[in-house]
Amino acid sequence: MCIVCQKRELQNSLIRVQKRENKAVLYSGEGRSFYLCKACLSGKHISNIISGRMKIDKRSVEVLLKELSSNVED
Ligand SMILES: [Zn+2]
Repeated sequence: MCIVCQKRELQNSLIRVQKRENKAVLYSGEGRSFYLCKACLSGKHISNIISGRMKIDKRSVEVLLKELSSNVED
């Protein structure tokens, strides 16, 4: 389930992110993780929502989202 829009999607259409030392990073196999759908990557105020819900540094969320949205083609 996407943490932002709360929609259930197939797991392979979601991006798995994890919280590591108060920062958002791509999931690497361990630690607390959550999902984002592709539609939400380009949404407004997403970094606010994610950083608020997950208690993650907002800057790190912004950086990760930027990276992800430049990788997602479709
Ligand atoms: Zn979503």
